[in-house]
Amino acid sequence: MIRLELAGCSGGIGGSGRQTTSYLLNDAVLIDAGTGLGTLSLEVMARIDHVVLTHAHLDHIACLPLLVDSVAAMRDTPLQVWALPEVIAILRAHIFNDQIWPDFTVIPDAANPFLQLKALPADGVNLAGLSFTTLPALHGIPACGYSVNQGNTTLAFSGDTGDCAAFWEAIHALPSLTAVVVECSYPSTMANMADLSLHMHAGALVQRLRALPLAAASVVIHRKPGFEEAIAQELSAALEDRDLRLPQPGEIYQFG
Ligand SMILES: [Zn+2]
Ligand SMILES: [Zn+2]
Repeated sequence: MIRLELAGCSGGIGGSGRQTTSYLLNDAVLIDAGTGLGTLSLEVMARIDHVVLTHAHLDHIACLPLLVDSVAAMRDTPLQVWALPEVIAILRAHIFNDQIWPDFTVIPDAANPFLQLKALPADGVNLAGLSFTTLPALHGIPACGYSVNQGNTTLAFSGDTGDCAAFWEAIHALPSLTAVVVECSYPSTMANMADLSLHMHAGALVQRLRALPLAAASVVIHRKPGFEEAIAQELSAALEDRDLRLPQPGEIYQFG
């Protein structure tokens, strides 16, 4: 059983109903640290031991620096942040650089810091009983998705990506797939914009989801502000026979 709390699952901000990507798994591990993270209580934040990042775009890391600072005094172990080695290098150079934000990997001291930045091992990592493996993504910068497995439950997260054949091949090859949490930033009327920005549009997503096993749920996230309804209508009409979910920020699912 995996508890998935979609604290943020929007492709932008605007009003309390839109929060950017941040997913809490089993109250212990966070995938991405967008503005949705800021809606969690301080006590819940303080219990998060691991943050796993898909990429370093601001809508996925905006609240990470603030998280470290907010919970530091409440924790006695470092917050561990996991990502591709290239993403870790970006965070060191551009965020935790003592200019944008303090370098909490050496505060209060290097031996016992508030924050550890950790490159993901190529064969994945097990965090709080959840097994994380990277999946391919196509986003123009270092980026990945993840498969997350616990027992018989497997969730696949696309992260931000264009229509990446290697991602879909990889999830077809998984021994089981309980749900795919996949981005769809635009309706198909904006396919050009989707292709330009390396995001999914609804037309391409329909084709990919139709090819998945019927039993797999599809959780569609990262809809861009103002296009939520057009995307929902397009997907709902084409995927009537599927377990299609179009969550609002704050939604909680139990899988498995
Ligand atoms: Zn992105
Ligand atoms: Zn994004």
